[in-house]
Amino acid sequence: MSHLMPPRVPTTVELPPRRALHAGSTQVLVVGGGPAGLGAAVGAANAGAEVVLVERYGFLGGNATAALVMPLMSFHNEVKQAVPGDTTRLLPPDHGEGEPVVGGVLWVLLEQLVRTGAAIRPSLETGYTVPFDPELFKLAAYELLENHEVRMLLHAFASGLVGLPDRVRAVFETKSGPLVLDADVIVDCTGDGDIAAAAGAGYETGRPEDGWTQPMTLMFRMVRFDHEEFAAYTRARPDQWKGVHGLWDLVRAATDAGELDLPREDMLFFATPNAGEVAVNSTRVTEVLGTSVWDLTRAELAAHRQMAQIARFLRDRVPGFADSYVAQSGVQIGVRETRRITGEYLLTGEDVLSARKFDDAVARGAYPVDIHNPSGRGTRLERLPRGESYDIPLRCLLPRGPERVLVAGRCISGDHVAHSSYRVMPISMATGQAAGVCAALAATGERRPRDVPVSAVQRELRAQGASLP
Ligand SMILES: Cc1cc2nc3c(=O)[nH]c(=O)nc-3n(C[C@H](O)[C@H](O)[C@H](O)COP(=O)(O)OP(=O)(O)OC[C@H]3O[C@@H](n4cnc5c(N)ncnc54)[C@H](O)[C@@H]3O)c2cc1C
Repeated sequence: MSHLMPPRVPTTVELPPRRALHAGSTQVLVVGGGPAGLGAAVGAANAGAEVVLVERYGFLGGNATAALVMPLMSFHNEVKQAVPGDTTRLLPPDHGEGEPVVGGVLWVLLEQLVRTGAAIRPSLETGYTVPFDPELFKLAAYELLENHEVRMLLHAFASGLVGLPDRVRAVFETKSGPLVLDADVIVDCTGDGDIAAAAGAGYETGRPEDGWTQPMTLMFRMVRFDHEEFAAYTRARPDQWKGVHGLWDLVRAATDAGELDLPREDMLFFATPNAGEVAVNSTRVTEVLGTSVWDLTRAELAAHRQMAQIARFLRDRVPGFADSYVAQSGVQIGVRETRRITGEYLLTGEDVLSARKFDDAVARGAYPVDIHNPSGRGTRLERLPRGESYDIPLRCLLPRGPERVLVAGRCISGDHVAHSSYRVMPISMATGQAAGVCAALAATGERRPRDVPVSAVQRELRAQGASLP
């Protein structure tokens, strides 16, 4: 055992009081520079607020860049069934023609990505996913914020919150020592709900029966991949590849031979905009929590061992991979699910699958329920009715309790099943934009976020090109 274990009997110690540098104040403070944070910062800036975005890493993008999570999942409903045909294009299976249900900031970023050759425009051909290059994504994200006059602070980890009479004060750990920033409203885009939890909001974690969350996955990029050779194999063995996953027989053979030891039965990988490259989403570490430093450590070690096994398996057994190698793995393991902050409404799996509509809708989603088994093999994938989408009410972004904090992205208020759908990056950007707009209207109108009329949020979102019913 090469990693530190949690103490058997937890004891705590008192730390000496300390002073922090006062780094300034702003109307809207966005914490976290992932998809939700980008949406929130631009949404708030467009609505007329002064905005600062703070991120713990030295780059933006969140899971899109730090965890190499690719592609942007489909944000289209499915209007028509696709003609079943070529199964070799590394596309999601059974995709039909669809219409976008997310607009706004997502499209501004998309246009920028496509213009610079960093992404492929969504179409039926890509199953409406958006393959992108994570390094170019980082640059596009900086430019997006610069173009909207959002001030950034990188390398700053939010570690606490202090309530002030009419404002909030966030505490950051940095190389320059601790510092604080004051804001009228904070939008928590940390994915983990760090800020809302620090402010005292309640939350749920994992599935109801045992609290286990979806597994973690270390993603990696394999290069020198021969797509033609792989396509020839899947044409010859159509039973062995479905859109973006498969190779069941080869995985079974390698598992039986002791070469693979994974809690999954197949391989899952996605095309990228770069020739000769795939993004591999096939490691799986179960029964670990992304808010436990002990579990994160254990998961990183386990996932890197799995990555080495998978790379060897692909090279040795899978046509098209003979000369391939791992060019890059995520800066950190990808964490699918942690805290779901309890808000004024809790979106349910039933709301998602029945495509429920709400009067206070501020975002929409059409992505299926997609639950990687928290404790073993298998994935539950359940689609919405064809051509449908569900609404996300503003109440899901308003935590119960804290007055000056909004949540966006994967930590909004919902159950385990609903979360598996709204967690994807395009919907996270949409809830981010909505939270940013609400925060800006609160700050500029000198009121609490919950006192901003939802009609005003919806009006501003529509003016910003968001897709609302
Ligand atoms: C393995 C895996 C595969 C996935 N596949 C896809 C896919 O193919 N397509 C898709 O669309 N979605 C996919 N998802 C889901 C998607 O990546 C996330 O749910 C989405 O990125 C959530 O966006 P977010 O902005 O809420 O959080 P994140 O992307 O996690 O961003 C949070 C940001 O906050 C920062 N941060 C966190 N805590 C602090 C703190 N205390 N202080 C300062 N900064 C902080 C982080 O560094 C990060 O930049 C996948 C997820 C995983 C893990």
